[in-house]
Amino acid sequence: MLEHERVVIVVGQRSALAVIVAVHSTVLGRAVGGCRLWRYADWRDGLEDALRLSEAMTLKCALAGLPHGGGKCVIALSADSELTAERRRAVMLDVGDAVDSFDGSYGVGEDVGTTAEDMLVVRERTRYAYCLPASQGGAGEPSEPTANGVRAAIGVTLGRALGTSDVAGRRISVIGLGQVGERVARRLASDGAQLVLSDIDPTKRQLAQELGARWLDPEGALIAEADVLVPAALGGVLTEAVVGNLRCAAIAGPANNQLADDSVADLLHRRGILWAPDFVVNAGGVIYASAKEFDGCSRDDAMARVGAISNTLGAVFDAAEAHATTPLAAARRVANDRLAAARRA
Ligand code: NAD
Repeated sequence: MLEHERVVIVVGQRSALAVIVAVHSTVLGRAVGGCRLWRYADWRDGLEDALRLSEAMTLKCALAGLPHGGGKCVIALSADSELTAERRRAVMLDVGDAVDSFDGSYGVGEDVGTTAEDMLVVRERTRYAYCLPASQGGAGEPSEPTANGVRAAIGVTLGRALGTSDVAGRRISVIGLGQVGERVARRLASDGAQLVLSDIDPTKRQLAQELGARWLDPEGALIAEADVLVPAALGGVLTEAVVGNLRCAAIAGPANNQLADDSVADLLHRRGILWAPDFVVNAGGVIYASAKEFDGCSRDDAMARVGAISNTLGAVFDAAEAHATTPLAAARRVANDRLAAARRA
């Protein structure tokens, strides 16, 4: 059954590209979530992404205690669609119209494949575009606060799995060295971790050289012996088959929707691998953007709010232990309790 409040699929008037906006929930407040621009074999795969990612945003906001619900926008490019600068501008204007049709119940920001500058174009068609460039008074690129939250979450996860949160000398495997992954890798290296780094983009190997890290291909990095595995590329990486081959004690990373499906959380639990729910670990960007753009906080105050991820994750692990359940089930329970309380109010 479709659990979303509203889903709009349009072929952009100007760009002729598929633009999908999914609002999962506005129970806690305006739905928020980024605009992903990605190539899909079929636009329906983009729809699937929008549905899953918007639901994850509902969980993320509820866990983070934000007064927002979950939404997501996906621009689904086909394998052969060309994206010239003019067409990119055209599709951002199309996104603006699609977002505006939600009358403020959904606010869009940047995500994989889009930038703060793209959001300026979206803003030409709707007030409800966020994460504008910092030079324009917006929250800007969210990767820095996201990486801060991920770094904090790795410490909490290590502490819970191995008894100490210090990363010095710990073997940590990071897969995906983009905006967030590179920042996390740099912090971990400066804190003395022994890193394995990986990306499908071979130019990222330079980062491994610079940080004195071991370089492996993504398949190898996934099953490398490690204290913590940090998925920092795209979702769906933790499948039933992969879990059987993992050689890590714990997993904590920013990639959205890491589990191929929820049953993988049980498999990880049975194997004794501690999984930190992605929607708790990677909430730094939305916490920061919300603090800056909706509450008018200074950069320092907004960053301080990101630090609360440590407490939230610790509480999720406590609840999982107390109820002898998985961190996923424990986190969902907290989110559902918050949503139920808001519905009753
Ligand atoms: P990005 O696009 O900047 O980087 C992704 C990196 O992963 C790229 O270097 C890419 O080459 C690499 N990659 C892609 N497929 C791969 C594969 N199969 N194996 C190994 N590497 C692969 O994205 P980002 O902003 O760093 O975000 C990373 C993840 O974190 C995404 O899942 C994103 O949804 C999530 N996330 C990001 C933010 C944020 O603030 N940027 C916030 C929340 C969640």
